[in-house]
Amino acid sequence: MSIVVSHITKNYGQQKALNDVSFSIKSGEIVGFLGPNGAGKSTLMKIICCYLPPTDGSVKVSNLDVMEQSMEVRKKVGYLPEHNPLYLDMYVKEYLEFVGRFYKVKNLSARVKEMVEVTGLTIEQNKKIGQLSKGYRQRVGLAQAIIHDPQVLILDEPTTGLDPNQLIEIRALIKQLGKDKTVMLSTHIMQEVEAICERVIIINHGKIVADDSMERLLKKGQPLEKIFQEFTQ
Ligand code: ADP
Ligand code: MG
Repeated sequence: MSIVVSHITKNYGQQKALNDVSFSIKSGEIVGFLGPNGAGKSTLMKIICCYLPPTDGSVKVSNLDVMEQSMEVRKKVGYLPEHNPLYLDMYVKEYLEFVGRFYKVKNLSARVKEMVEVTGLTIEQNKKIGQLSKGYRQRVGLAQAIIHDPQVLILDEPTTGLDPNQLIEIRALIKQLGKDKTVMLSTHIMQEVEAICERVIIINHGKIVADDSMERLLKKGQPLEKIFQEFTQ
């Protein structure tokens, strides 16, 4: 399922957060969306997920317009927000059932059980979300993002704040989930993109400054940090 971003501009009052951004992602691609803090990553992801209207331009997900067909787009897209707004007082399964009902998921309790298994939550499934470590909260975030079996996954800094072991586990999980989905994930860590993605899009000050395959970027023979720095100075 493809994503086509055409000439997206987003102003917050006087400030231009996105300035004429265009690119497209083909069905099944895993794309890393890289940029320094404040570059516009979260803003663009919110627009793709129908959480925020653009000031100008259009986004299509599987040929559906995010502004005109937002209910249809939401069914096809799973979104893990940056500040994962999980309900801390809810139990893991209670929360997943709550999200599943919103999407009108069929055979919900079986689906919740499946999501708990797929995301490695089995041993923590009877806890409240507030009692979970950051790594397990991210697993709950991923579980809610895929409960309606979306073909597109938008993950906003899914590994920020995790310890090294959690990082490896969550990366592996994303890779696994991405096998049959179109995935766009944001990060400011170049190595993360190398571990998970086939393609890299770099944004800086609201503009796309690079869009290339990981393979071609690595062929430059430079350390990844240096490549990132060069594009984002
Ligand atoms: P990133 O996710 O790459 O860190 P954001 O998309 O969150 O960047 O932010 C891009 C720019 O827009 C930043 O300068 C940020 O301060 C600004 N911004 C983000 N959200 C808002 C908002 N709701 N109101 C005003 N400015 C905002
Ligand atoms: Mg952000």
